[in-house]
Amino acid sequence: LVLPQTRTEAILEARVRDVGVSVRWSAEVVGLTQDETGVKVEVRGADGTLEQVAADYLVGCDGGRSTVRKLVGIDFPGTPGTLTAMLADVELADPPERPVYMQRSEFGQFSVLHQDAGPWRVMTVEYDRVTDRSAPMELADMRTSVARLAGTDFGMHSPHWLSRFTDAARQAVDYRRGRVLLAGDAAHIHHPSGGQGLNLGVQDAMNLGWKLALVCQGYAPAELLDTYESERHPVAERVVANTRAQTALSRPDRHTEALRDLFETLIGFEPVNRYLSGMISALDLRYPIGDPLTRHPLVGYRVPDADLKTTTGDTHVFALLRPGRPVLLCLDPGTVGALTEAAGGWADRIEIVPAHAEKDAWAVPVGEVVPAPGALLVRPDGYVAWADTDPASLRTALDTWFGPAR
Ligand SMILES: Cc1cc2nc3c(=O)[nH]c(=O)nc-3n(C[C@H](O)[C@H](O)[C@H](O)COP(=O)(O)OP(=O)(O)OC[C@H]3O[C@@H](n4cnc5c(N)ncnc54)[C@H](O)[C@@H]3O)c2cc1C
Repeated sequence: LVLPQTRTEAILEARVRDVGVSVRWSAEVVGLTQDETGVKVEVRGADGTLEQVAADYLVGCDGGRSTVRKLVGIDFPGTPGTLTAMLADVELADPPERPVYMQRSEFGQFSVLHQDAGPWRVMTVEYDRVTDRSAPMELADMRTSVARLAGTDFGMHSPHWLSRFTDAARQAVDYRRGRVLLAGDAAHIHHPSGGQGLNLGVQDAMNLGWKLALVCQGYAPAELLDTYESERHPVAERVVANTRAQTALSRPDRHTEALRDLFETLIGFEPVNRYLSGMISALDLRYPIGDPLTRHPLVGYRVPDADLKTTTGDTHVFALLRPGRPVLLCLDPGTVGALTEAAGGWADRIEIVPAHAEKDAWAVPVGEVVPAPGALLVRPDGYVAWADTDPASLRTALDTWFGPAR
C-alpha cells in the first residue's frame, strides 16, 4: 500500500476533528513554562500576536528541530549526516527514454521517475557530501547533483517542489520532562530508509494518548506516563540503528557492493526475511509486559485481528478497539462470570466483551501460532496487557495499566 503522506495527514486531521480536537495552523510555540500543576505555552499567531495557552500536559510533536524539546532542555545526541539526499518534482526538457530507478554511480545513486500525468520526480543521494542544510535549496543544487551522478541534468527546469535531507540520526535522551513529553520526529530522527518514521511517530502517539487520557481524567497516577518512555525509547533506538545499517549498506564503493550482494542472498532465507520484515514493519514489537517466564505468548504483542462472534453479532478484534477504550475479551464461557466480577471496579473505563473466537489457534504477529487464550485484556493501543483466566492476575493487570478500581 502506497499512501502519499499528504493523504495520511488529511485522514488524521479529519479523525481528530471528528473527536472534537481543534487544529490551528500557523500558530508557533515560542515559549513555555511548567510547574507541578500544569504547563503554560506561549504561542505566536500568523499575525505576530502572542497568546498564552494553559494545559495540564504538553506533547511536543514539532518535528526534528523541536522547539519544545529545546525549551525544556532535553538533549538530542546521535550521529551527524554523512550523505545528502535531494528530491524534486520538476519538468524535464530532455527526459530519459524510460524511468530510471536507483541507478548507482561512483558517487551515489539517482532515480528519475515519471508520475501519472504530473512532473518528473528526481532523487539523488550523494555520499560523503554533506551540504549546509540551513541554506535554502535551489534548483541549481539539484541540477549539479544529477549531472554529477548521471552525466546530464535531463534539461531540468520549472521546479514544483524541492527538498533535501541527510542520514543524521538522533534520539532524545528523555521523552518526558515533568509535564512535557515528546513524540514523533521531535523524539527521534533517522534516514527514511524503510519508510519507518511516520509509523514510529504514530505509534508513539498511540502509546501515549490513552495513558495521558487516563491520567488527565484522574483514573491513573502520573507514573503511568513513565511507561511511555520505557516502552517507546527502545523502539526508536532500534529504528535508528537499523536505518544506520541500511545507509551503510547502500554506499557505492566495491566493498559495500560485495556486502550488499551477500545480504541479498541472506534475505532469500525465509527466517532472515521474516526477521527483517518484522523489524521494519515493527510488527515483531513486544513490550516488556508481565513476567517474561510465565506470560502467555501473546502478552506484549499487538493483538491479532481475530474473527469473533458476540451477543450483538459477528465482529473482529480491531473493530472492538475503535472507541479507544481498553477491552477485556472473555473467550472461555466457563470463566466469563468470575472475570466480569473481578473487573467490576474498572467497568467505568473498560469494555467487557464475552465472545466466541472463530479459531482456536491465533497467530502471533511475527508468525508463531499459539492456542487462543481463555481471556485477554487489550490496551487501547492494541497491545495485549494480560492473557489468562485468573481473576486475581486480571485485577493486577487492570490496576497496573488503568489505575485503581473504583
Ligand atoms: C524524504 C523523506 C521521505 C520519507 N518517507 C517516509 C515514508 O515513506 N514512510 C514513513 O513512515 N516516513 C517517512 N518519512 C519520515 C516522516 O516524514 C517523518 O517521520 C514524519 O513526518 C514525522 O512526523 P512528525 O509529526 O513527528 O513531525 P513533522 O512531520 O516534522 O511535523 C512537525 C510539525 O510541527 C510543526 N512545528 C515545528 N515547530 C513548531 C513550533 N515551534 N510550533 C508549532 N508547530 C511547530 C511543523 O510545522 C510541522 O507541521 C520520510 C521523511 C523524509 C525526509
